[in-house]
Amino acid sequence: MITEAFPGQDSDFARRARENQSRLNADLKRSYDFIVCGAGSSGSVVARRLAENSNAEVLLIEAGGGDEAESVIDPALWPTNLGSERDWGFQAEPNPHLGGRELSMSMGKGLGGGSSINVMVWARGHKSDWDHFAAEAGDAGWGYESVLDIYRRIENWQGASDARFRGTDGPVWVQPAHDPHPLAHALLDAAREQGIPTFGSPNGAMMEGPGGGAITDMLVRDGRRQSLYRAYVHPVSDRPNLTIVTGAHVRRILFDRRRATGVEIEKDGRIFSIGARSEVILSTGAINTPKLLMLSGIGERAELERLSIPVVQNLAGVGRNMQDHVSFGCMWELSRPMAPRNSGSEATLYWKSRADLDAPDLLFCQVEFPVPSERTAALGVPDHGWTMFAGLAQPESRGRVRLRDADPAKPMVIDANMLSDPADIEAARACVKLCRDLGNGEAFKPFVKGEVMPRDRDDAGLDAFIRDSAVTYWHQCGTAKMGQDDMSVVDTSLSVHGIERLRIADGSIMPRVTTGNTQAPCAIIGEQAAARIRADHGL
Ligand SMILES: Cc1cc2nc3c(=O)[nH]c(=O)nc-3n(C[C@H](O)[C@H](O)[C@H](O)COP(=O)(O)OP(=O)(O)OC[C@H]3O[C@@H](n4cnc5c(N)ncnc54)[C@H](O)[C@@H]3O)c2cc1C
Repeated sequence: MITEAFPGQDSDFARRARENQSRLNADLKRSYDFIVCGAGSSGSVVARRLAENSNAEVLLIEAGGGDEAESVIDPALWPTNLGSERDWGFQAEPNPHLGGRELSMSMGKGLGGGSSINVMVWARGHKSDWDHFAAEAGDAGWGYESVLDIYRRIENWQGASDARFRGTDGPVWVQPAHDPHPLAHALLDAAREQGIPTFGSPNGAMMEGPGGGAITDMLVRDGRRQSLYRAYVHPVSDRPNLTIVTGAHVRRILFDRRRATGVEIEKDGRIFSIGARSEVILSTGAINTPKLLMLSGIGERAELERLSIPVVQNLAGVGRNMQDHVSFGCMWELSRPMAPRNSGSEATLYWKSRADLDAPDLLFCQVEFPVPSERTAALGVPDHGWTMFAGLAQPESRGRVRLRDADPAKPMVIDANMLSDPADIEAARACVKLCRDLGNGEAFKPFVKGEVMPRDRDDAGLDAFIRDSAVTYWHQCGTAKMGQDDMSVVDTSLSVHGIERLRIADGSIMPRVTTGNTQAPCAIIGEQAAARIRADHGL
């Protein structure tokens, strides 16, 4: 295994890697052993792990461009990527449960995918999430202890040493937020005022029990973003057996009966096919992965026939089970301007909406500037404020994505369906109430002038605030879930049911959304896929 730390920061390596990739791109082959579609959080991991074996010829295809923009590298600039060419800019359908609002659903486009435009929070998920994955897959290999072992192997942890939970030899540089803002410390003090325990890191004992608060772990090194592409792929991009193609849109998967044989791509206005001698791996994210499956004839029969797409495999679960964390921006005005630090989000808190739960179902990320929805912005946003991005960690609502038509260029119909389940409104009330107790506590008094929203409201007013302020945490997942039931799309080794040589490795396969931000679980999904592919092909 290659474990050297980020040779990409060495300019000789960067030049060698660039020259290698220009050479390989100038001479694209008709076929490769493995084609990985999408260079995002999971796809980066799969491509790296396969390319570590020099006998495997790997093609990594990415629709977007490079990751060298200042807005990617500088942690403070992440919001400027939203709506840019680095964002797919998906738009959900009008949602009656949000007063008819149409939510923006950003997802990363370019090397690193979401991990190049996100807030850099590293959150492993709760013990119960992984045990749930194992139960759904019927495979203890997805259970908490196995996954903890993978986390220990992949992390290069920079905080206090902790042999039970942390590793220091892996490719992923993880550090506690550097020199956190006084507001981040205030949040932890406020948590203690409410009887919520605080921890040295959110990634350890805190996610084995009812929750707690901690300074955030981040993928930032020397003040620069360390995306999962930078961690995994960049250090091996000088290898002759790894070709990385950007600006190439995968349009569909090609089959010989029920065996995947390659992909059709569009690049520079030209449409052509590339063969996969061993496997195709789809890592195009929770919206484009079900889209590609359906365009290629894998999905619910009636849905495909409606669009005259020949059916390769009838799998009713494709595009269903869509999940996401929904968030409500509660806001306070600062008594004096305070510049955000790092990514502007350095403290995190997980807790329960009901005492009888044994795992957290609420998720709070503090943000050191105002984050209203387009509707709550109209209530008036202070020039200097902070936000509790307070959300549901285990929502009950499920959405669905479907094809608008059979043209790959057309956007999907995204029915995110947030807050459609009444249980979510119930949990949201508890969430906003806890948020107000925290923000109006003694700990914040030295910093704030007062609460801006939601303020005191009756029940109807509180519900209106919840529906008006709801936005996505950008954790879309679950649309091609792993499992054994009729609605599952992949099995425990992430192979598509009934299809040979086609796997899915990205957030789509989550049976349920993990309790927390989703890039770290997507890295685990990539590791799990790669380990199984290597075992199956003797790599
Ligand atoms: C604004 C924002 C903030 C976030 N903040 C955090 C955070 O702080 N911490 C955290 O853990 N998570 C965060 N997330 C979520 C996290 O980044 C995602 O859950 C994660 O990146 C999903 O990984 P993935 O591999 O499933 O897909 P992605 O990372 O989205 O990768 C999919 C890749 O496939 C490419 N692709 C798609 N379709 C095609 C096609 N047809 N042909 C070729 N390539 C294609 C895409 O361009 C993309 O590069 C955030 C996300 C966003 C958008």
